[in-house]
Amino acid sequence: MKPVNIVHLFPELLNLYGDGGNVMALRRRCEWRGIPVQVSEVGMGDAMDFAHADIVFIGGGADREQLIVKDAMMGHKAELQSYVADGGVLLAVCGGYQFLGHRYVMGEESVEGLGIVDMETVRGEGRLIGNAVIESDIASMPIVGFENHGGRTTLGSGVKPLGRVLGATHGNNGEDGLEGVHQGNLVGTYLHGPLLPKNPQVADYLIARALERRGDSCELAPLDDAVENEANRVMASRLGVL
Ligand code: GLN
Repeated sequence: MKPVNIVHLFPELLNLYGDGGNVMALRRRCEWRGIPVQVSEVGMGDAMDFAHADIVFIGGGADREQLIVKDAMMGHKAELQSYVADGGVLLAVCGGYQFLGHRYVMGEESVEGLGIVDMETVRGEGRLIGNAVIESDIASMPIVGFENHGGRTTLGSGVKPLGRVLGATHGNNGEDGLEGVHQGNLVGTYLHGPLLPKNPQVADYLIARALERRGDSCELAPLDDAVENEANRVMASRLGVL
């Protein structure tokens, strides 16, 4: 089987709160099952071959980093749009998630988005910070994580969120009860954590979609997730959800 190619986009700038752990979790969960895997890091100015990507990951970043990376990101706009339109698996977290929309307006300045998802982000008063928990149809367990964002994201009508906030979680904008986006094989979310080590079901969802898209079997051998599941349960119950 040809290796599952995980592409980590701009790891030097978009990598907040351990977001790189998402790539480690994807890699390990493939390796533990004997699925060949490789990780390609694409930095600013690097060319990138999306034709051979199986999972693309974009992490979070402060407004400052988003401003630094925006031109390089737009340099991949057309390729990323066609990769997603072709069913490519993409996970984007927080600052990376905001790039999926039309734009991120931060006061005087505005960052153009990739236009892959019909959504817009505007920086609001104060920041939405805290441990977070949501319910989503891609996981039977609650999805737990940590959010810290000034941007408020509003999905266009008919755009499917990743899930609904539980407890005191803020989610996309602190108002409509929605969190993230889930469109085809694309998942965007405000949840750091990192997300995937804390939520193995989400990691496996992405791996399975990547294998399925290539025509490989997406039946994943079960792993011993007792520790991960217990950590998830403790956090969900601390947040008053279980
Ligand atoms: N800079 C963005 C915001 O504050 C994203 C922050 C993040 O990735 N945690 O909204």
